[in-house]
Amino acid sequence: MDIQELKDIDEEFVLHTYARANVGFVRGENATLYDLNNLDYIDFGSGIGVNSVGHNNNLLVDSITDQAKSILHSSNLYHIQTQSKLAQKLVSLYQRQSLESSDMRVFFSNSGAEANECAIKIARKFGYPNRYKIITLQKSFHGRTIASLKATGQEDMHKYFGPYGDGFVYAKDINDVKNHIDSTTCAVLIELVQGEGGINALPKQQVQNLATLLKEKNILLMIDEVQSGIYRTGKLFASNIYGIQPEVITMAKGLGGGIPIGATMTSLCDIFSTGEHGSTFGGNFLSTRAGLCVLDILDSLYSSNLLNKTIQTFESKLDSLISTYPHILQKRVGLGLMCGVVVQNNDMQKNIIQKALQNRLLVLKSGQNVIRFLPALTISDDEINEGFARLEQTLKEI
Ligand SMILES: *Cc1c(COP(=O)(O)O)cnc(C)c1O
Repeated sequence: MDIQELKDIDEEFVLHTYARANVGFVRGENATLYDLNNLDYIDFGSGIGVNSVGHNNNLLVDSITDQAKSILHSSNLYHIQTQSKLAQKLVSLYQRQSLESSDMRVFFSNSGAEANECAIKIARKFGYPNRYKIITLQKSFHGRTIASLKATGQEDMHKYFGPYGDGFVYAKDINDVKNHIDSTTCAVLIELVQGEGGINALPKQQVQNLATLLKEKNILLMIDEVQSGIYRTGKLFASNIYGIQPEVITMAKGLGGGIPIGATMTSLCDIFSTGEHGSTFGGNFLSTRAGLCVLDILDSLYSSNLLNKTIQTFESKLDSLISTYPHILQKRVGLGLMCGVVVQNNDMQKNIIQKALQNRLLVLKSGQNVIRFLPALTISDDEINEGFARLEQTLKEI
């Protein structure tokens, strides 16, 4: 099938919710993708932070193949070995990286939005019956379901889809959160690095101050790590880097390496009684087996310090490009391999993404004027070098 045929079918049969680039891929190897014409692309986006261990990772392919040959799904009516083991592994890896290690438990779902829905239900039950208000931040992104959309602090995205449930308020920034706390507040939900809102890493001291204040007031701190989690920022969670112990952490994107999975981890171990929350697919054999394999791969990258080296290589490449093209690239933002570069304006952002694609380099947008990079955490030095060569070629054409 060529790209035009593919576009025609898409146009006719698929709802038009995406502004797709003029390319389709058929296979990949680590951080390199091949299109319908077998042309290679360097992938600095990894499917929006999903292909955390690269494309066609042998270990992941073998483990999900092996799993498919025995059992894919049984439902949560029965015990699921891979689900129990993945919960145990997430909690123990987290405890190894946090300062104080409290007990945590995990609920599995299929996406980031669902992971946040679970967090919202935890907060509401925690506050029941008098406290229901959840504070989020402007420019945040928490998902597309009705509640997670309402939690998202971008009012233009709310248009058309109301009425919504009440109880979400938006603080201007991390310092402004305290001004919105009242006797009905049960939780604060934030991203530590805003992924869609401009790769905006919140200031560490202010986050720690807020965490302390919330503990005093018995208000839950819930961190949306759907994008920043699973070693993306250099540790298991950005929360580990910020040195905070939130009551709830949500994750999804990188956890399954391409197999859909979401998870909500909480220190409120007994918040739900049987039947109060659930999911048909959530935590099935396939996705949790994938999660186990991904955590194995990434934990060894982290422990051997290879992840740290990759982060340093990527950052120094980006910094040197910024110093060569200061009239186009303003500054590096983000944390670890959740990073980006600020450009002058929205036109420049679009122009760079478009021309990079023509040079067969995939990069993402974030906010109005940031070029975002979320490469596979397994990206090789050769792929980094080739990607930056293509980015430099792109800048020369601007
Ligand atoms: C992507 C994302 C979501 C939504 O995840 P889906 O899997 O698309 O539902 C929620 N929060 C953050 C921070 C995200 O980056």
